[in-house]
Amino acid sequence: MKKLFSSEHAFELQAVRSELDALSIPYMVKNEFASGALGELPWQEAQQELWLVDDTWFHRASKVVDGIKANFASSQGGKGQEGREWVCSSCGEENGSAFEVCWQCGDAL
Ligand SMILES: [Zn+2]
Repeated sequence: MKKLFSSEHAFELQAVRSELDALSIPYMVKNEFASGALGELPWQEAQQELWLVDDTWFHRASKVVDGIKANFASSQGGKGQEGREWVCSSCGEENGSAFEVCWQCGDAL
């Protein structure tokens, strides 16, 4: 058994599960019902975790997780530019999301 993924975002976890289902990758969910008894549990323990039943799927399953994480991150980023770095088209410098002009050459985003 190998831990594949955990998330506090039920939506993200659900996306991973349906992808694993589609690929017939066997997995187990831990803490699935923890939210019913939340009160006394530390936050981490209430997080759902996905565990691979068969470790030989790990490589394949990791790719699924990576893809979904990337999707999830970009769908969140789509609501605004917060947290997104950008690369200046003039000088190629990477700029933090807080900057609207390149700190290197002063070009605008
Ligand atoms: Zn620049």
